[in-house]
Amino acid sequence: ETNALLERQAARESNARSYPRRLPLALKRAHGIYVEDIEGRVFIDCLSGAGTLALGHNHPVVVGAIRQVLDDGLPLHTLDLTTPVKDRFVQDLFEMLPPDFARSAKVQFCGPSGADAVEAALKLVKTATGRGTMLAFHGAYHGMTQGALNLTGSLAPKRPLNGVLHGVQFLPYPYDYRCPFGLGGPAGVQAGLSYLETVLTDPEGGVPAPAGLIFEVVQGEGGVIPAPDAWVRGVRALTAQTAVPLVVDEVQTGFGRTGRWFGFEHAGIVPDVVVLSKAIGGSLPLSVVVYRGELDLWSPGAHAGTFRGNQMAMAAGSATLQFMREQALHDQAARLGARLQRQLRQLQSDFPLIGDVRGRGLMIGVELVDPQAAATAQARSPAMPAFASAVQAECLRRGLILELGGRHGSVVRFLPPLVIDERQLDRVFDIFAQAVRAVAL
Ligand code: PMP
Repeated sequence: ETNALLERQAARESNARSYPRRLPLALKRAHGIYVEDIEGRVFIDCLSGAGTLALGHNHPVVVGAIRQVLDDGLPLHTLDLTTPVKDRFVQDLFEMLPPDFARSAKVQFCGPSGADAVEAALKLVKTATGRGTMLAFHGAYHGMTQGALNLTGSLAPKRPLNGVLHGVQFLPYPYDYRCPFGLGGPAGVQAGLSYLETVLTDPEGGVPAPAGLIFEVVQGEGGVIPAPDAWVRGVRALTAQTAVPLVVDEVQTGFGRTGRWFGFEHAGIVPDVVVLSKAIGGSLPLSVVVYRGELDLWSPGAHAGTFRGNQMAMAAGSATLQFMREQALHDQAARLGARLQRQLRQLQSDFPLIGDVRGRGLMIGVELVDPQAAATAQARSPAMPAFASAVQAECLRRGLILELGGRHGSVVRFLPPLVIDERQLDRVFDIFAQAVRAVAL
């Protein structure tokens, strides 16, 4: 039954789609952390819409909020005219922002996707500074529209698009496990910051002053790579000194995922621009950019679009944000994430194919490597995508959906709903451990 459906879809749908290739599933129903396929098999969903489903599938407060919009006959589409639902949503959002940021911040509704908000952020800083170029990082992922893709630090999706690669300089992102400078730790952080300082301040550097610098506090698609706090603070200090707007892409890390409401809070910094999507719409499509009021220099009409600020998404989003705060889901993510990382590290000591375990909160990555290659210091890339896909397939067979990421697709990513409990997360770990054992032996 599943195969017939997948084949029918493959016949009509573009080759460019990707998820159904690695996860050959046809889903019928979902509840909480579980999804059920058309054959009645139940899976734990640790992909959760690439981190979108903070409250899991069909949480009663989300379903209730959506139902209320319909029952009350609220306008389903308003362009971006004001409604009480929108007013409530903006209040809920601002209450979660750090107070010193919220005080002057402005919000711009962007559209359904994270990439929409990245595009808006890009236009905003270009307009505000009157400059044209950007700084971004190796391994970054900011979306698939052309502006956002420009900022994405991997070549594969750009190669066929002659002419996309303008005006972005890519810098090394600190990556302890395989530091691009061969350093790692504090020395790697220092080297990266010195390089950035040169780029920003050396008049002979040959690079015009950029309109902004954009980064993820934890690179998600890039392989769950958390930036060290010292590096984040250094980047904030250097961009502040040189008056370059700092854009933090919190599309995946935002709203409790990393154990704080926003990933940048770990380092105690305040960015100039924050890009938000995924969890913000409570599982419906929504994205916004929030930024310091001083940057609000674009003119009326500078950024428009028909589907910005969908009522149902804002209602679902409000319900989600309120529930998160009531339940302190960020603290739960921090606690359960630390616990899962400990379990995974223990597993690592038995299985050398687990090269690295890392992450923050409930955003965790396990990098699988070729143990022999990893043992030789010179090995530039011991990554083993074949192990990662095999582990993913073994997990799926045992009822667990996990996604892969990283430059070589060799990082298994854990992005469970934030409402997952300890017992359920133990089950996730058990299945993963069984899958690793099956692949290693
Ligand atoms: N930024 C980050 C950090 C992301 O993880 C993603 C999506 N995975 C995007 C931007 C793009 O969001 P969307 O797919 O909704 O366009």
